This record gives sequence, C-alpha cells and structure tokens, in this order.
Amino acid sequence: MQQKISLKLSPSESADDAAIRKKIASSAAKKLTDITGYVPLKKSIDARGKNIYINLTVNAFIREPLQPVNVKHFTFKNVTDSDQKVVIIGAGPTGLFAALQLLEKGIQPIILERGKDVRSRRRDLAVLNKEGIVNSESNYCFGEGGAGTYSDGKLYTRSSKRGDIERILQLFVFFGAPENILYDAHPHIGTNKLPHIITAMRKAITDHGGKFLFEKKVTDFIIEKDHIKEVITADGDSFSGDAYILATGHSARDIFELLHSKKILIEAKPFALGVRIEHPQTLIDGIQYHATERDEYLPPASYSLVQQVEGRGVFSFCMCPGGIIAPAATSPGELVVNGWSPSKRNNPFANSGMVVEVQQADALKSLQGSKGSTVQKFKSSLKADELAKDPLLFLKFQQMVEKAAFEAGGGDFVAPAQRMQDFINRKTSASLPKNSYLPGLKSTDLTTVLPPFIYDTLAGGFKAFGKKLRGYLTNEAVVVATESRTSSPVRIPRNENLEHPQVSNLYPSGEGAGYAGGIVSAAMDGERVANTICARLNKK
Ligand SMILES: Cc1cc2nc3c(=O)[nH]c(=O)nc-3n(C[C@H](O)[C@H](O)[C@H](O)COP(=O)(O)OP(=O)(O)OC[C@H]3O[C@@H](n4cnc5c(N)ncnc54)[C@H](O)[C@@H]3O)c2cc1C
Repeated sequence: MQQKISLKLSPSESADDAAIRKKIASSAAKKLTDITGYVPLKKSIDARGKNIYINLTVNAFIREPLQPVNVKHFTFKNVTDSDQKVVIIGAGPTGLFAALQLLEKGIQPIILERGKDVRSRRRDLAVLNKEGIVNSESNYCFGEGGAGTYSDGKLYTRSSKRGDIERILQLFVFFGAPENILYDAHPHIGTNKLPHIITAMRKAITDHGGKFLFEKKVTDFIIEKDHIKEVITADGDSFSGDAYILATGHSARDIFELLHSKKILIEAKPFALGVRIEHPQTLIDGIQYHATERDEYLPPASYSLVQQVEGRGVFSFCMCPGGIIAPAATSPGELVVNGWSPSKRNNPFANSGMVVEVQQADALKSLQGSKGSTVQKFKSSLKADELAKDPLLFLKFQQMVEKAAFEAGGGDFVAPAQRMQDFINRKTSASLPKNSYLPGLKSTDLTTVLPPFIYDTLAGGFKAFGKKLRGYLTNEAVVVATESRTSSPVRIPRNENLEHPQVSNLYPSGEGAGYAGGIVSAAMDGERVANTICARLNKK
C-alpha cells in the first residue's frame, strides 16, 4: 500500500534516510522492514520557534515496491516540414516555453534572439565584471535564456492562477534540473546549473526542426492592414510567420520605443525601484535560525519583508542567500544591480532587492527635478502635461535614476553605496564593508542618487525591518544603488484573444509586456500565448 505521511524532523534527521524511514514506520504503525521506500511530496522549513523543524510530506510505500519520483516525459513533434510557423522574438523563459509548446503541437517556432548563446554570453559577463564594459546585446538581461539564465533560478511564484506551475517545474526537470524543485517549498536551481538546462532546451528545439537564431535583434515590424507581414533584424534579414510572439523582456527599451514611434499602443505601467542590500550571510542565519552558528543541515537563511511606510509599500525582492550582487545594466552610462547565487548558495553574503512602489505622481515629480542632487541632472525636458500622457513615463524615471547612480559611482559600473545605519542617519559612510559586487562600491550620500520619496520610504522600511528582525538594521549591511529592473515600466496591451488590439497577429507576452514577474510566471505566459495561437491555427 501507499500512504501520504507528514513528518516533523530535526534538520539532521531530514538528511538521514534511515531516520526518515524510522519516522515513517512509527507514524504508519508498521515495522521498519515494511517500509520499502518513500517519495518526497513537499518540504519546508519551520524556523519560527527556538527549535527548527523540517516539515516533510512523503508518499510512503509499505509492503509494495517503490515507484520512483513521478518525473514526466515530454515528447515533441518534428516540425521541419510544418507549413505553420510562429516567429518568437526573445529567448527568455517566455520565448523558450512558448517554443516548446508549439513543438508539442507541431508548429515550427523561429526564435530570434538579439544576444549570444549561453556560453559566449558568459565571456561578456566576465568583461563587464572585470573591466566595467557592457555589451549592449549580451549582458545579464540579454542573451540565450534571457534575464533568468545567470540568476538565482528561484522558481517560486504566487501566480498559480496564471498556468500550470507543476508542468513548468516538470519541464525544467526533464531538461536537467534537480528533482527536488518538484517538492521544495521554495525551489531554486542556481546560476551554475541554469545554462546547461537552457542549452538542453535549445537542443530539443533545433533537434525537432525549430529554428534558433542568435545575434538577430529585431529592429522593425513591417505592418500591412493591421497585420505584421514580417520583422526586420539589425543585420537586414527579414522573417515572417503566421503569428509573432513578442517576448523581449523588461529591458528591451528599443522595442518599447519602436512600438511607440510606430503608434502601436503601449501604456505606462507603475513598477518598483530601490536598492540592493547585502548582509553577511552568518548575520541573516543568526537572525533567522536563532543561533550563533547555522546547523550544517540547514540551508543559508533567507527573508521576505514587506512594510507600508506612510501609505507607500516597500518590500524585499529576489532574495539571494549565499549570493552575489551583479551589474545588470544593458547600456553604458546606466547602473543597475540585481542578484544571483549558485546552487549551493555558498557565498559569504546574503543580498536582496529592497524596493518602493512608484506611482504616476511620484515619477512626474521626480522627472521635474529634485534640487541639488545628481538625479536632478537627468530630469526630463518635457512639460508635466506631456509627461503625464507619455507611455514611457516610468521608463524615463527608471533611466534617470540609473544614470544618476552610474555618475555617482564614477564610471566602470562602480556602484554608489552606503552602510545601512548610515543610510537612515543620512551620513556618508567613512568606509564600506566587504561585499560581493565585483566592479566595486564607492561610498556615496545616496540622497544625491535616489529621488526623495524612494530614499525616505526605504529609510522608514529599514527601521521597521530592524524591529521585525533584530540585528537586520546594522552598519555591517551595505545599501547599493540601484535596483531598478524589478518589472516592466511599460505594458503592451492585448485583447481577450491575447493579440495586440491594433495588430492582430502580434502576441505581446511575458515580463516585458507586463504579464509576468519572474521565471515561472514568464514561462507560463509564454505557454498560454502559444496555446492560444495553436488554437487559432487549429492545432488543439
Ligand atoms: C540577475 C537576475 C536575477 C534574477 N533572478 C531571478 C530568480 O531567481 N527568479 C525569478 O523568477 N526571476 C529572476 N529574475 C527575473 C527573471 O529573469 C525574469 O522575470 C524573466 O527572465 C522574464 O522572462 P521573459 O522571457 O519575459 O524576459 P527575459 O528573460 O528578459 O528575455 C527577453 C529576451 O528577449 C531578448 N530580446 C530583447 N530585445 C530583443 C530584440 N529586439 N530582438 C531579439 N531579441 C530581443 C533578450 O535578449 C532576452 O533574451 C532575475 C533577473 C536578473 C537580471
């Protein structure tokens, strides 16, 4: 027989197969020899009390042979001779999962990606980190696998209504991700493993007759009678298909500008902007696990924080335990930070984004200028009423802060930074702590970089978080500007058929179009759009 059993284990028991079997036997009131095996279904950490427990739910096999984890197998059709083609612009999670879905249904995907393959991309990241030179086509946001490739690979999402999360995780496992992502409460893959998974996805796509083209940056849409006839790439090539999935991510500013210049409707979308915070990992472990030293069977600790400060939300974002702060800009002269971590999360620092909601009035006021600050230098020349109508309002705001951060750092992607306690005391730090950011940090008064409403809300948030997590508000932590690519500052509208309301075969999808936030939700939106196209092309 099989029985679903929930166990409460100590950290060391959770890593000990014999101890787990013993607990299963005791819980099921069976002999130890009756337990033939078990399959984990859900695993989470309960660190609320003094003693820390691992909650593990398993499917136990009792006096019957163990059936291994339910890893699904996927089959794809060979589409080499398909007469139906879909052009996918962008090879991030949205584009990749859309392509796999099309292959399952027998439609040929043609992926056009502006960046390079994962391996070549790695070299450009090394140049960015070591020499402070960004390649505008190949960086932490652009290239095979999109922004998710050199990330932490957290696969946790709250968007359960938007699609089949289980299917996305199963596909990741099918392409080489560890099986524990199927049952961990907060699954993550790690930067070292993601590139192999992305390469395996590409191989499946090309092995089955899909096309995958690198260094093909889409620069124009040729539209006839509210229909895309073809897309043009920077090298002068053109591509056509039955439908076009626009999956270019939140950093493809040139695509937003292109659509706007062609009078194809886009809308300003509120987003969040702030900083990245880094603490020593031991400090976060100590706070979360209530001990001076982390139990060797527990993973590096994380946190998730949210607070209202004078009616404005401030929250932690993309926490990377044992991680690295990375320069995630896509253009020279603009500074953006983000975070990643390897699968073992074994770096000595814990970083997370700490961001503030930005609404229209905030962006308008900031773009009109805040006196005496670096950020003021990059204010908009547009009048308030023009800005209010501008669909690129939030993009302009985002760019303004990124430019101010770059200038304050002094170039080469050196980032302006302040110790956390100094930040709330508005004091320039005399020195900065050791940190993971390779291009380097420069001690800076961040009031000159961040618009006042961002600075003040963050300061209020840090004080509140210091009360929630004793020891969090400390000068051992460093505040780095600026975390600005949290989600898209633009929405590309779509109708109930998921098409653009003005261009009937254009399907905006994923994070850049404003329909996803994170790897899994982007993948689900890519699948959803691909399924809709398949239905339209009668491939149910
Ligand atoms: C450093 C970092 C860490 C992150 N960590 C996590 C994490 O742990 N978990 C998580 O869920 N999310 C994380 N994210 C966010 C996540 O990566 C994104 O939410 C996700 O990748 C969005 O998927 P997408 O396919 O919609 O867009 P993207 O991944 O942005 O992909 C868009 C693709 O389109 C290409 N493109 C753009 N313009 C053009 C053009 N004109 N022509 C052709 N191609 C074009 C780009 O090169 C890119 O490959 C992280 C992001 C970064 C930068």
